[in-house]
Amino acid sequence: MADKFDVIVIGGGPGGYVAAIRAAQLGLKTACIDKWLNKEGKGVFGGTCLNVGCIPSKALLDSTHKYEEAKEHFDVHGITAKDLKIDVSTMLARKDKIVNNLTMGVAGLFKANGVTPLEGFGKVLAGKKVEFTNHAGKTEILETDNIIIATGSIPVAIPPAPLTEGLIVDSSGALEFDKAPKRLGVIGAGVIGLELGTVWNRLGSEVTVLEAQDKFLSLVDQQVAKEAAKQIKKQGMSVLLGARVTGTEIKGKEVTVNYSDSEGDKSATFDKLIVAVGRRPYTENLLSGDCGVNLDERGFIFVNDQCATDAPGIYAIGDVVRGPMLAHKASEEGVMVAERICDHKAQINYDIIPSVIYTHPEIAFVGKNEDELKAAGEKYNVGMFPFAAVGRAMAANDTAGFVKIIADAETDRILGASVIGPSAGDLVQQVVIAMEFGSSAEDLGMMVFSHPTLSEAVHEAALAVNGHAIHKANRKRK
Ligand code: FAD
Ligand code: AMP
Repeated sequence: MADKFDVIVIGGGPGGYVAAIRAAQLGLKTACIDKWLNKEGKGVFGGTCLNVGCIPSKALLDSTHKYEEAKEHFDVHGITAKDLKIDVSTMLARKDKIVNNLTMGVAGLFKANGVTPLEGFGKVLAGKKVEFTNHAGKTEILETDNIIIATGSIPVAIPPAPLTEGLIVDSSGALEFDKAPKRLGVIGAGVIGLELGTVWNRLGSEVTVLEAQDKFLSLVDQQVAKEAAKQIKKQGMSVLLGARVTGTEIKGKEVTVNYSDSEGDKSATFDKLIVAVGRRPYTENLLSGDCGVNLDERGFIFVNDQCATDAPGIYAIGDVVRGPMLAHKASEEGVMVAERICDHKAQINYDIIPSVIYTHPEIAFVGKNEDELKAAGEKYNVGMFPFAAVGRAMAANDTAGFVKIIADAETDRILGASVIGPSAGDLVQQVVIAMEFGSSAEDLGMMVFSHPTLSEAVHEAALAVNGHAIHKANRKRK
């Protein structure tokens, strides 16, 4: 490699590839290194998100949602779906095609923006040098003024359930079952466990989710979590709380999971087991001892609010640093760092990062939830509005759930929102925008929302904060 780069990005997931594109847009000579090889052994960019994360999981969730709608809910529309079948191999091939289109898309964007793609492994050396080893094993030392580390995360493995080809799998393996297992166990009732459990539950698997914590979705507003638990149970998925997995035994094509709960030691036998107990930062062989980059006590690369590491000119973003492991958080950090390298005053508001769980009903939230505010002793007002009272939700036969908006009792400034229901992820985004502009609940209530739309639930919840909702009886009226 001839000349010196302005920026070398290590990792081409949604953090790294976005950082590389923004840096190139700003006129910086940029390279992006990624070691990912797809199923055909071809180097691709897009990281976890595009290859085995956000995108393939949503492709399967959408396919199976359509199937379930046809199977369970078409009759109310007067539609008969006879001899309904789903061909799992077609479903998986569709998912693979979407993944392929998107990873090719990143390659196209690199070309259009002049980012140099480097397929292989990157290691940070002292003096802002990067050791690059391509897939053929050839190594060279690259020089650069800035390094952006975006090496992401990998699934956490737990000793009681070691991955076993075709039987005990992680989230990537759970995207590839060639048919719905009859009995499916999932360890971990986090976002990934619930989403993947949902996919296979819809295709007929008997799904049991084992969760060590006593509380369901502990990080989510507990009113939302309660509604989610009710809906998930209705869909036939069994979630065992307070169930800590202690071991697994494989006999032939079955796996028996030993776990303990408040009643003592128990076991359950499955045809497949998904381990979804979280992800950890990936820094394997990434940093030379003298490069000046430090890790924190949990193994994340230590950075400040602007994603600068302890080594000048070296930044780290995305899942490999503190904060929620979310693709959009990674991307925004990528943009921020690229812009700060060019002396722009970019900043991220870490208090307003939305999260979405793509079950049905969907769950989404931003800012503070009621449980957090209560625990902190804050004074607040809550406005809620159920989808059962939204005309568009009724028209779509999709009325479970509600929007909940919370505002400061004194200033009325919106502090957070939680949504469970149709298009929750898109609806919560409306509150994100409002919060970013420092909106009060009254401001949001004064805006004009199209009718009939699901957004009207956001409008009415904002009005309800001050007891002014129109399409439901308010608890109090000021
Ligand atoms: P990654 O996407 O993990 O990318 C890191 C890249 O760095 C990889 O391509 C890796 O090959 C490369 N790399 C690592 N080390 C090196 C090295 N030394 N040299 C060269 N290359 C290297 N998030 C959401 O926001 N929404 C969702 O719906 C969602 N769904 C998910 C579903 C699943 C099943 C999973 C597993 C994750 C999901 N996530 C979701 C999380 C999301 O995928 C991550 O937050 C996101 O991918 C993090 O981006 P990143 O750029 O930090 O790292
Ligand atoms: P998340 O970090 O959101 O992906 O969620 C992972 C979940 O797995 C957490 O809720 C953990 O409590 C749960 N978990 C971790 N280890 C175990 C275990 N040994 N048995 C059951 N659940 C576990």
